[in-house]
Amino acid sequence: MTDTPQIARLRASVRDVPDFPKPGIMFKDITPLLADEVCFSTVIDLIVAHFGRGTVDKVVGIEARGFIVASPVAYHFGAGFVPVRKAGKLPWDTRSESYALEYGEETLEIHADAIKPGERVAIVDDVLATGGTASATAKLIEGIGGIVYGLAFIIELGFLHGRKQLEGYDVVSLIEY
Ligand code: AMP
Repeated sequence: MTDTPQIARLRASVRDVPDFPKPGIMFKDITPLLADEVCFSTVIDLIVAHFGRGTVDKVVGIEARGFIVASPVAYHFGAGFVPVRKAGKLPWDTRSESYALEYGEETLEIHADAIKPGERVAIVDDVLATGGTASATAKLIEGIGGIVYGLAFIIELGFLHGRKQLEGYDVVSLIEY
């Protein structure tokens, strides 16, 4: 699909960094996008418009770049913000979920009381790659009684088929590769 002028501008503001953080990875650097006042606000507006105001009670951001995008989305929704962090960073009673990475394992945590049973939750992150991070986050939310209303990403690396791990959820991404 060809980009609209709006999406073309977003795409042009993402910097490809080869072999970061390790050989063979093409890192999608969103710092130029965040630094561009039009692109940053466009990303937030498009995510809010996709779900619509009044549809979610909480927005979950995934450490660390997810926090930057999820917080203004939560503000615009009039929703609360909830962080999902790497193991050992949250100070209160937590629930955790581990998942496999290409090499080794990652563990994510959420505060056990961060979401009330039945609350509708949107998950926001910068990049959907293999989907492991996002599906572990969905499990954390459901494990404490939340309802995953949908997931939003600035970038989707379609060739890694992350959506397959998120079947049954409303998944939106703004720039696809
Ligand atoms: P995954 O669990 O494979 O979907 O990976 C998603 C997480 O890893 C996101 O939080 C991204 O920030 C990060 N990530 C994975 N691949 C890339 C990439 N090529 N460029 C930038 N960030 C990435």
